Amino acid sequence: MRRDVPIEEQIQVDRVEVLSGITVGELADKLGVPGAALVKKLFEMGEMATVQQTLADDTVEIICADLGVEVYFMSEEELEFGIEAPDDPERLVTRPPVITVMGHVDHGKTLLLDAIRQTDVVSGEAGGITQHIGAYQVTKDARKITFIDTPGHEAFTAMRARGAQITDVAVLVVAANDGVMPQTREAIAHAKAAEVPVVVAINKIDVEGADPNRVKTQLTEHDLVAEDFGGDVPMVEVSALKRLGIDDLLEVVLLQADLLELTANPDKSARGRVVEANLDRGRGPVATVLVQGGTMRRGDILVAGTADGKIRAMFDENGSPVEEATPARPVQVIGLNEVPEAGDEFRVVDAERFARDVAERRSARERRKELAERRPTTLEEFTSAVQAGDKAHLNVIIKADVSGSAEALEDALLKLELDEVQVRVIQKGVGAITQGDVRLAEASDAIIVAFNVRPGANAREEIDRSGIDVRTYRIIYEAIEDIQRAVKGLLAPEFREQVLGEAEVREVFKVPRVGFVFGCMVIRGEIRRDAGVRVVREGVVIAEDKMSSLRRYKDDVREVREGFECGIGLERFQDVKEGDVFEVYETVEVERD
Ligand code: GDP
Ligand code: MG
Repeated sequence: MRRDVPIEEQIQVDRVEVLSGITVGELADKLGVPGAALVKKLFEMGEMATVQQTLADDTVEIICADLGVEVYFMSEEELEFGIEAPDDPERLVTRPPVITVMGHVDHGKTLLLDAIRQTDVVSGEAGGITQHIGAYQVTKDARKITFIDTPGHEAFTAMRARGAQITDVAVLVVAANDGVMPQTREAIAHAKAAEVPVVVAINKIDVEGADPNRVKTQLTEHDLVAEDFGGDVPMVEVSALKRLGIDDLLEVVLLQADLLELTANPDKSARGRVVEANLDRGRGPVATVLVQGGTMRRGDILVAGTADGKIRAMFDENGSPVEEATPARPVQVIGLNEVPEAGDEFRVVDAERFARDVAERRSARERRKELAERRPTTLEEFTSAVQAGDKAHLNVIIKADVSGSAEALEDALLKLELDEVQVRVIQKGVGAITQGDVRLAEASDAIIVAFNVRPGANAREEIDRSGIDVRTYRIIYEAIEDIQRAVKGLLAPEFREQVLGEAEVREVFKVPRVGFVFGCMVIRGEIRRDAGVRVVREGVVIAEDKMSSLRRYKDDVREVREGFECGIGLERFQDVKEGDVFEVYETVEVERD
């Protein structure tokens, strides 16, 4: 390399295709220049960076503009699966519309979704026990309609955060006795931003004081003008409680869908989005996905966000097994190796190996992006918030085993009314505490509130190193009370659980008449026969139990220290797998200062 040649003259391309979150080294490769040259260039622009460091997208844009190179940000899909030819119009068939219900709290979203589903159950289409899987289909006049069953903005925001859009028509619920409220306005803003047509359900018309005309007048101010007011927004008066107007609403939704001429190609490998996902104690990761194109079949190999796996089973909203799912069909799938996030894109691929690679690359990229993007923003936010007012913030990161708990915890924490301190949830998520979470906590001076989840191995080191405050809970109100006390500067609880050690399950033995014995290695601390045990799988607590036996070779022992093998029997929980970790804890009295 000739150091005196300016970088501009070394560049060998006039266009680069990059992924968001590219490192300095990778960008240098694409430009055909040595990493060091790009580091130097960055330095001249006032940025200190190493070759391994991730660049913010706008930095990439600035550098490339400066170097006279066109830059194109590829989607992950384009990188991983190549750029696809558009569907052959001959193959396109009409598909059902996908509907999201939004509106202010207590205006009747949940009850309306129930009523819609109930209508269908009554019509005899469904049957058996209905199950909440995050989405369902109903049939109206022999046509299917898909409803996203995670009411509120949640579905929308999760999707939009991932650049996805699954909703065709938004149903805006406004209570006739309450009118337009803050979340109504928010919902309208969401629908507008997504350019999704709105159908208004004026609900609770059975209630005294219901005034549908007032609602229509109010909505006019938000550019939603009812047809009888000379506009083109369909508004239907309903009562979710009395089941009035539900059929009309469905008809209007179908009419609106007709205008959109919704089609999809069922003749290709399936793809779509994750609607909802959680870790099921018995079945492992369970995801409700919405097929958007192609047809998905049992046995297909899937990549969903950073998860992958082979579909072992698929179920519909009635809990019945299904063999295949066509466009707009929501199904629950089992067989993924981890819990994907709502809004994640999924795809069926040919080979398990390929799925694995894609998922792993995505995880690695996500970790890098987390570091590159979140750190500065949260720090800035934090600093400016503190500068702006005299209110102190308690920054909180929430990790939980299912998204429902994370949300419940967030809601509860945000509702805490505290004079001097404001709680801010800077991030919430599902799954084990990651290294990224700890780094974010460190960068933003946050505490981590973990609900039924544990740090992964890497995260643990990071926690020990940084001294970040990680609080683990199993009961939501305990979490809330504890935090309330903490921010009020009151006394810590008198009793606290203390983890004594951990043993990793290496082998599972079935012993006649005794049951299962788990061959373990103590990987941290020490474990004691009389202490409590939590079974942790991939960072999530899946069971709580006590030991029924603790043995070294043939001898019963009272404790086993780090680095030694032992055999452990549990009193109740037997569904232990290799790789599970037994977290052994005791309850200790904490001294008050
Ligand atoms: P969400 O917060 O929007 O999901 O609202 P919910 O569906 O939970 O309903 C909030 C409350 O309003 C509940 O007590 C419902 O029973 C009640 N509610 C919902 N729809 C109606 C309706 O059409 N008429 C009456 N009278 N009450 C309703
Ligand atoms: Mg609700």
